[in-house]
Amino acid sequence: MQDLTWEEVESYLEHDRIAFVPIGATEQHGPAGPLGVDAYVAITLAEDAAQRSNVLCTPPIWFGDSSHHSGFPGTISVRTETLMLLVRDVCRSLARHGFNRIVLINGHKGSNLPGLISSVRALHEEEYPGVVFAVADPLHLSRSASPTIKETNEHHAGELELSHILHRFPGLIRMDRLTDEGVDFQEVFGGFVGNDLFGPAPDGVEIMWSGDEQRAFTPTGSFSSSMGTTDAKGKAYHDHIVGRLCELVDWLRQYDGPIGATDG
Ligand SMILES: [Zn+2]
Repeated sequence: MQDLTWEEVESYLEHDRIAFVPIGATEQHGPAGPLGVDAYVAITLAEDAAQRSNVLCTPPIWFGDSSHHSGFPGTISVRTETLMLLVRDVCRSLARHGFNRIVLINGHKGSNLPGLISSVRALHEEEYPGVVFAVADPLHLSRSASPTIKETNEHHAGELELSHILHRFPGLIRMDRLTDEGVDFQEVFGGFVGNDLFGPAPDGVEIMWSGDEQRAFTPTGSFSSSMGTTDAKGKAYHDHIVGRLCELVDWLRQYDGPIGATDG
């Protein structure tokens, strides 16, 4: 969208009403991953799927809810409330001009999701019943594919997300800094927090930790091994998620059901 003129956006709205909004984070991703990993994930998924499906993609939001990574320099976090207000204002602006299918594409997994979901749920309930809001995240969009692509448990800065960046932005991963280091989840969280975001999990709970505590239990910032990072894994992961996003667009284009039906 940032490369178009307002007249071009207006003519897009004459035949389509879908917008993708990429939302990431700027936070530590271990010794091998750049701070922008989660933003790059959101941007590349949104832009690729948008291009393939011919829908508009807004400029990205580079900051997310990252206070738990704040023990590492370069991490820039916004509070959940700030993120919610920002997303709300972006969506309001889009809805005002007639976008009625708004897909938030998150690159920061579970840490942004509560704020994003709460934000658009309230917008849909209280202000824009005629707009369909969807929140897309690789965590859920790759549920069937991830276990067949990755070779080890995947948490923060692991082989899947670093492979994804390696595939889409070659040169950004410090291949000589890949590491086997990870968090001993049993020891740190007593077996109540799983060590694999894309795999089986224990009967568990959410446990909060601070940025300083995180730096103490993982001095490198790596939560799971990144040694298995390859371009091929990144390609399989990326193509699967982009394909699924394109299917979402197909469904949104023909959908005429009870959600968001009030403004035609
Ligand atoms: Zn990440």
